[in-house]
Amino acid sequence: MSSTYDSNNIFFKIIRGEIPCDKVLESEHSLAFRDINPRAKVHVLVIPKKPYINLNDFVLYAEDLEKIDIFNCISQVVKQEKVTDSGYRVLTNIGYDGHQEVQHLHFHILGGQPLGGFIKKLVIN
Ligand code: AMP
Repeated sequence: MSSTYDSNNIFFKIIRGEIPCDKVLESEHSLAFRDINPRAKVHVLVIPKKPYINLNDFVLYAEDLEKIDIFNCISQVVKQEKVTDSGYRVLTNIGYDGHQEVQHLHFHILGGQPLGGFIKKLVIN
């Protein structure tokens, strides 16, 4: 865990059971729940149970078992949500430029309908 991790973030409160979530799946090291403001028919967030700010933090500090677990969890959610064949998107926002709002690593799983282009073309300056 990075020394700058703030344990008051909303996802760590969910992990501690202080606020509820619409749980989809729980494994030993990961938790999956529905996004409160869904951007698509299927919008599930998958998070590690231990405190990591983002993917960089997770790669540096997580045990291999946690890394395997989170990808297995994503795979299981995709099956449960029945989007394996139709397709879906997995993404994680990191930091300021990535527009990360909650400072605890989370993977968005989006699907259940055509998602359009990956990202709108930005003005490059
Ligand atoms: P990001 O911009 O990648 O940090 O995304 C944060 C996501 O967390 C947003 O899609 C929010 O809608 C979602 N979110 C915030 N609070 C909650 C909550 N209490 N339960 C479920 N999802 C949440």
